[in-house]
Amino acid sequence: MKTKRNKRLEKIDKKHLWHPFTQMREWEKETLLIIERGEGNYLIDTNGKKYLDGVSSLWVNVHGHRKKEINDAIKKQIDKISHSTLLGLGNVPSIELAEKLVQIAPKGLTKVFYSDNGSTAVEIALKMAYQYWEQQSGVRSQKSEVKKTKFISFTGAYHGDTLGSMSVGEIDVFVEKHKPLLFATYKADYPYCYRCPTDKKYPSCKIACIKSFEDILKKHHREIAACIIEPIVQGAAGMIVAPHGFLKKVKGLCTRYNILLIADEVATGFGRTGKLFACEHENVMPDFLCLAKGITGGYLPLAATLTTNKIYRAFLGEYTEMKQFFHGHTYTGNPLGCAAAIGNLQIFKNEKTVQMLRPKIKLLAELLEGFKNLPHVGDVRQKGLIAGIELVKDKKTKEPYFTEQRIGHKICIEARKYGLIIRPLGDTIVIMPPLSITMAEIKKMIDVIYRCIRQTT
Ligand SMILES: *Cc1c(COP(=O)(O)O)cnc(C)c1O
Repeated sequence: MKTKRNKRLEKIDKKHLWHPFTQMREWEKETLLIIERGEGNYLIDTNGKKYLDGVSSLWVNVHGHRKKEINDAIKKQIDKISHSTLLGLGNVPSIELAEKLVQIAPKGLTKVFYSDNGSTAVEIALKMAYQYWEQQSGVRSQKSEVKKTKFISFTGAYHGDTLGSMSVGEIDVFVEKHKPLLFATYKADYPYCYRCPTDKKYPSCKIACIKSFEDILKKHHREIAACIIEPIVQGAAGMIVAPHGFLKKVKGLCTRYNILLIADEVATGFGRTGKLFACEHENVMPDFLCLAKGITGGYLPLAATLTTNKIYRAFLGEYTEMKQFFHGHTYTGNPLGCAAAIGNLQIFKNEKTVQMLRPKIKLLAELLEGFKNLPHVGDVRQKGLIAGIELVKDKKTKEPYFTEQRIGHKICIEARKYGLIIRPLGDTIVIMPPLSITMAEIKKMIDVIYRCIRQTT
């Protein structure tokens, strides 16, 4: 059923919009689903059809759409002021939010630098880490001609789409075209355990990967400013869950070799993995914590980079020394975004959101078991309410489908018929619902995905 208005909107979209990460020629051929409203865990399109929001509107929504507390917080703030600058002025919500973020973040992170999105939160951490070492006197290595100007990250990493965050990223299809524009970084092997038996690269992935990391540090630590990692779960790589202990080992080696650790919790932050922050799983205290996506409950573009007093102090000096951090986005600390974030955190407290996840995580784990025997399911991964179901052409050899088959995409389009919105990462079906999803909705979501995988593969 297509209403006149729907047709008109679709026509304009295809005429004037350029969608992210999208082959627009394909887009122009497909039927466009246009979302008009949200209600709790559901999205409602322009025809009034309801869909369960299975990927939290791209990993951002936390407590459902139109959550009263967050709506009210924004409305209240809008009647006061929507924006004023943090350049030379303070604003109330940014101050109140900073205090709350410091309270909940891993210990030692006491300084908050705001920006607008995950990529900028990462850029800021990279630039701060670099400038920190640049401004250290006496901390430089003995061979003082060597400066700490390099970064180390992991294979399969995704840290955003700006050039700096792409430089520390490593997903080929994302960065290949722009490679000449990126700065060089060291890449250590991420423990992609499930692939290991296939390519026989490592006898034991966890050990080998830590060794690959340590080998680079041993050789190059004098020039490495920081290591950046997606703690516990690599998101865009396909929801790859690291074996327990990996993060802690990485942190240990960073400490030993005097390298700062940047935890990119843009995706994993705010409860997704079953803890408020993924670093908590292994009691790791990073030097930088990058937050975005879920920080406002999925309402508004806001991000924060948290760091320690130690880092902060390196930027103090006489005005003429020019040690200040030369970075700032126009909408930094936007009051509406901060008000939404305060509302979001208040709900975590009031509703004990993280504790309430336990039975949901357990149910999801039980239901995911059912996928393991499907003929084209190569791997099933889960941490908290995040899951990835990886589809393969051949279960035994783990041979992937041909790219042009777009099997993940087909399954997700099929799921819409049954009232579920999901979006794959290549051939991995991603499950990342709002934390407010109910037990019944988890069951429904899994039923639909199961059915669609069976029908499509
Ligand atoms: C999404 C994401 C980013 C980038 O965030 P944007 O808001 O899209 O710029 C960075 N790091 C991780 C781990 C992410 O998942």
